[in-house]
Amino acid sequence: MVARAARATDLTDLDGAVSDCFACPRLVAWREEVARVKRAAFRDQDYWGRPVPGLGPPDARIAILGLAPAAHGGNRTGRIFTGDRSGDVLFAALHRAGLANQPTSVSADDGLTLRETRIFSAVRCAPPDNKPTPAERDTCAPWVHREVELIRPTLRVVVALGAFAWAAWWPVLRQVYGQRPPTPRPVFGHGAHWSGESVPALLGCYHVSQQNTFTGRLTPAMLDDVFTRAKQLSGVD
Ligand code: SF4
Repeated sequence: MVARAARATDLTDLDGAVSDCFACPRLVAWREEVARVKRAAFRDQDYWGRPVPGLGPPDARIAILGLAPAAHGGNRTGRIFTGDRSGDVLFAALHRAGLANQPTSVSADDGLTLRETRIFSAVRCAPPDNKPTPAERDTCAPWVHREVELIRPTLRVVVALGAFAWAAWWPVLRQVYGQRPPTPRPVFGHGAHWSGESVPALLGCYHVSQQNTFTGRLTPAMLDDVFTRAKQLSGVD
């Protein structure tokens, strides 16, 4: 699996290879069961039921790092953050920031394109209860590492959605940039900011989960502040 990720020569190659990954037995069983049983509202749809690749141009200056696909969102549509309420909130914010051409993301063929931004997750398969195990996180890490390697020439800022993604960045720093992560690790928080030498800046943002957005813990204004900061730090107009 590590070798397959490392062999990917570009993002198209990587996206194709990750979509065919079966390395985590528990997650493979779950993603396929969800795709078979379905949610009643989507019973007439064919679920993707596979790992969900990243989205966005290969010369992105901003990366958005999420946790994992949602069972009836990305695992259904085959596109990250597409087809669920988390995606509604995220893409509306990216559109306000001028980083997406439309404010909605409902299906893989809805015409959405991103500008200067690549979105991907630390774990590429939907996990039960949105909770991958540490072993599953580590097994999936080579896909993240290769994705960052491929966009490294232009990448300037990483927005970590939630503490899981924040923690997943430090191994990337070591594997991709050859840098020892800071000790102690900077603490995740909304608006947290870490910068190192010759590496992308890291910004913390509460995850766009319903739990956060429905309760007002994460508001549209808070998301706007994060993406304004990300654009400033990356030099995106
Ligand atoms: S979580 Fe990652 S490593 Fe595990 S099966 Fe899915 S794509 Fe493969």
